[in-house]
Amino acid sequence: MNRPVMAANWKMNNGPTSAREFMKAFLDQYPRQNDRTVLFFPPALSLAAVAAGLGDRRDVLLGVQNVHWADQGAFTGELSVAMARDAGARVVLVGHSERRHVFGETDEQTALKCAAVERGGLTPLLCVGEKLDEREAGNAESVVVSQLRAGLSQMQHLAVREVMIAYEPVWAIGTGRNATPDDASAMHKVIREELKSLCGERARFTPILYGGSVNTGNAPALLAASEVDGLLAGGASVDASSWLTIARA
Ligand code: PEP
Repeated sequence: MNRPVMAANWKMNNGPTSAREFMKAFLDQYPRQNDRTVLFFPPALSLAAVAAGLGDRRDVLLGVQNVHWADQGAFTGELSVAMARDAGARVVLVGHSERRHVFGETDEQTALKCAAVERGGLTPLLCVGEKLDEREAGNAESVVVSQLRAGLSQMQHLAVREVMIAYEPVWAIGTGRNATPDDASAMHKVIREELKSLCGERARFTPILYGGSVNTGNAPALLAASEVDGLLAGGASVDASSWLTIARA
């Protein structure tokens, strides 16, 4: 397994005040750790609070949950990659299932966003995952592969640029029903094979995270599954004490 990446997606939780409290509680009990990377995706309004809390902790990275693909302009409510970088972000979530299925984000838009993130010198964490009906119809792999190909299709330097992938089956997100470690392994293997055809040797070192109802109980087994290089947690990452347990899994 690659060095694990343990990612916390706070979604629309933890504003600046609770983000400050969270970071204090978390960092007090999470000494510098060189065997893994912890990654926080706070809401954009809490980025500054999390960055201030982190100080010089290089083992903990900051990311944003979404960006627009344009460099700047009349896009009310949106954030650019340059702004995210300026605020201390290193990684950008692209194509999270809530962006795709609540806000209607398309594969074409995920492609534009991954390309913008690359242009801006940050790392995309591209989320892919099938819906329940797609799994039940036997189409899980083809859906995931096509989201993966589409999302990375506009990147110019895939063979050399850092990219992260998260396999997040839609039916597992926020439902309390996680994929089994075997199911996650099987899909991560498919993703790794596809990455090999897209970016050659670099695929071996591309972190592929599992996300979907990760909790303190199932995190160790999911993380130990073959081809799983880390975890992306939503609900269980909002509270400092459960996230501490998962981050140390
Ligand atoms: C997520 O938001 O990426 C996620 C996996 O959510 P949850 O852990 O709550 O299922």
